Amino acid sequence: MPTSESERVPGRQPARFAVVDPATGETFDEAPDQRPDELDAVVDRAHRAWHGWRADPVVRTTALRVAANAVEAAGDDLARLLTLEQGKPLAESHAEVARTAARLRYFADLAPRTRRITDGRPVHSEIRWRSLGPVAAIVPWNFPLQLAAAKFAPALVAGNTVVLKPSPFTPLATRLLGTVLATALPEDVLTVVTGREPLGARLASHPGIRHVTFTGSVPTGRAVAEAAAASLARVTLELGGNDAAVLLDDIEVDRIADRLFWAAFRNCGQVCMAVKRVYAPAQLHAEVVEALAQRAQTVAVGSGLNPETRLGPVNNAPQLARVEQVTKQALADGARAAAGGHRLDGPGYFFAPTILTDVPPGSPVVTKEQFGPVLPVLPYRSLDEAVDAANGTGFGLGGSVWGTDLDRAGAVADRLECGTAWINHHAELSLAQPFAGVKNSGVGVAGGPWGLYGNLRPFVVHRPQEA
Ligand code: NAD
Repeated sequence: MPTSESERVPGRQPARFAVVDPATGETFDEAPDQRPDELDAVVDRAHRAWHGWRADPVVRTTALRVAANAVEAAGDDLARLLTLEQGKPLAESHAEVARTAARLRYFADLAPRTRRITDGRPVHSEIRWRSLGPVAAIVPWNFPLQLAAAKFAPALVAGNTVVLKPSPFTPLATRLLGTVLATALPEDVLTVVTGREPLGARLASHPGIRHVTFTGSVPTGRAVAEAAAASLARVTLELGGNDAAVLLDDIEVDRIADRLFWAAFRNCGQVCMAVKRVYAPAQLHAEVVEALAQRAQTVAVGSGLNPETRLGPVNNAPQLARVEQVTKQALADGARAAAGGHRLDGPGYFFAPTILTDVPPGSPVVTKEQFGPVLPVLPYRSLDEAVDAANGTGFGLGGSVWGTDLDRAGAVADRLECGTAWINHHAELSLAQPFAGVKNSGVGVAGGPWGLYGNLRPFVVHRPQEA
């Protein structure tokens, strides 16, 4: 089953671009480099497929459940391809495939509620829900499959069709996912397009798209919002984060150190809501730095295909350069690396897991999103100072508070300006919860029933109580 528009045109040789294995830095495959003008036909077919797909919610529920099974059945191939192009350890790729299927299953069973409003007049109003049309889903390279599913599963069950564009750094597992989903969905209900910019920009501004749901960086999110303004399509933006973990003075460092380390370093720190800054009470600061540094120095770093590996490479060369630049800047600003602080010798995009101390609070590794295996640990003297610092960036995705007295930790968590706050852990999400960032971290709400309604519009019918 073709998943790319160029492949449908007999005789045309589509252009292709290289896909690099970040563990080696070598090209290992290619993907179609679709031209922006190919989108007209793709969106047109998505529009035509919408008319049939939106008609029957039972068909959609069944198809999404079948799709979840198909994803699981293809789990080994999907996971291996994901590790090859993304870099994460194979076990994490399998977990991502499982989360992709779980999203399909969760949304398969969600349906909007029709409500009737009576307000004393001789008419009643019935609120029904209608799909929007073709939805553009644009996703980044850190969790290509599960972030895509978080977009297409609610969009599809709501009755929309989807044009899905993965990052050019990770197009292959998504293309395979498109092929797998095509065994469960009617033709053109979900189309994967791959290519380099300006493909995403053109998709976001395409007049046939009725909702642009985007996950990625803040600057690209702004560009997407501007592009979608041309057609006044609905926009949902899930953007970057700079989550703080605030440690309270009653923590037991040994008890939390593993969890805190992995909350920062999972997926090589390339998680929108990873812990990106730690605030520790001044009297515990040295102990926290030592516990985290010890883990950073001993964690197994290597190719994601090696079963021993716990931390893979950074996904791509530009991101590695950003991580290196922000670390060098911190060291130049007076920071000290308690662990790491440099690239690893040898092939591939590896950066030594890094714990930074003595970091000036204004250094970019604190104020910006490092999105890599680098963690600054900052001391604080008063809780107000820590909360102000945690809230003191332009981001507001998540945050966490760590302490033994849960009521006290809960009271501090209430003061965090973010979409999700955790106590004694970080970044664990329920499929049923709303997911939204504040400030520059996002626009709109994804997740749970909110994600479903984000893909629907209300349609209200007023009718007399009697004929
Ligand atoms: P990015 O913004 O560079 O790219 C994201 C996607 O947008 C890619 O598919 C890219 O090809 C595409 N794109 C690039 N330019 C475009 C344009 N002008 N118009 C339309 N699309 C365009 O982000 P990235 O580097 O791939 O991902 C890392 C970022 O994503 C980080 O900032 C991270 O925090 C964020 N992120 C956020 C969440 C969340 O849920 N809030 C989840 C994961 C990642």
